[in-house]
Amino acid sequence: MSNHVNSTVPIYRGRFAPSPTGPLHFGSLVSALASYLDAKQQQGSWVIRIEDVDGTRCNARFAEQIIDTLSSYELHSDETIRVQSLHHHLYEQQLSVLKKQRIVFPCNCTRQSLAKYNGSHPNKCQSNIEKPHSWRLQTSPAIYEYKDSIQGHLVFSDDLKSNCPVLKRKDGFFSYQLAVVVDDHLQNISHLVRGADLIETTAQQLHLYHLFGWTAPSVCHIPLITNNHGDKISKQNHAKPIKNKHLPTLLRALHYLKIDLNSPTSITEALALAIEAWDPNKLQGIKNLPLEEQDLHFI
Ligand SMILES: [Zn+2]
Repeated sequence: MSNHVNSTVPIYRGRFAPSPTGPLHFGSLVSALASYLDAKQQQGSWVIRIEDVDGTRCNARFAEQIIDTLSSYELHSDETIRVQSLHHHLYEQQLSVLKKQRIVFPCNCTRQSLAKYNGSHPNKCQSNIEKPHSWRLQTSPAIYEYKDSIQGHLVFSDDLKSNCPVLKRKDGFFSYQLAVVVDDHLQNISHLVRGADLIETTAQQLHLYHLFGWTAPSVCHIPLITNNHGDKISKQNHAKPIKNKHLPTLLRALHYLKIDLNSPTSITEALALAIEAWDPNKLQGIKNLPLEEQDLHFI
């Protein structure tokens, strides 16, 4: 008898990490489902994390609403829901790792002063750091590439060369980029399944993993649900909140993941069938999926 776990089989841990800047909308339901189905099909665990690191835009009331809506679709977190705003000290700790490496620098440039660089930031900063300042990451010649099981082989060759992203803002809030990497690492997240709009953030995140000496999770990007102008359905462009516990909404969301079920009678049944039917290969190479005529009421 042996209790040895086969170390070549990774333990799957996935997550859905909404920002509580508004109620859950149709595009977010599609993303939540994709990460959930991928985790459950591989007998993994799936957790919800509230990404409220930007205290100026997030609201606890929306966080509750989002969790409520997810529960009504039986998308329950397997562990206590982590709330980013409670972990500022952990982001500070990782920022100080980068400060010691001297690869972040203080900056209080204004948008106007950066206008001549097209909004990006040069590698040197003439800021007076006696004043409130942000912390920016230096540029890097590093090139990152990885195999995205949906979008194919992605290479990020110029992403880190010309910009110095802010990791901590002047107002004291940490950036999404830093918080997401720290949290995914601390929560042992092994697989990210997220929207294609986040492809462009991947190089920065892989770079942070590298700088911290951490192993990055496997990442894949599902198509983005767009309106008829080709824009992402988002709270910023007034996507409507979805109804709670509404089987037809769930079935339409699954349709955009190329899962068309034959009249399930309950959310429980639909989810169970969807876990079996989920096949990311059917989304191969698709970056955008425009809402179909019958679904325009979601926006
Ligand atoms: Zn600056």
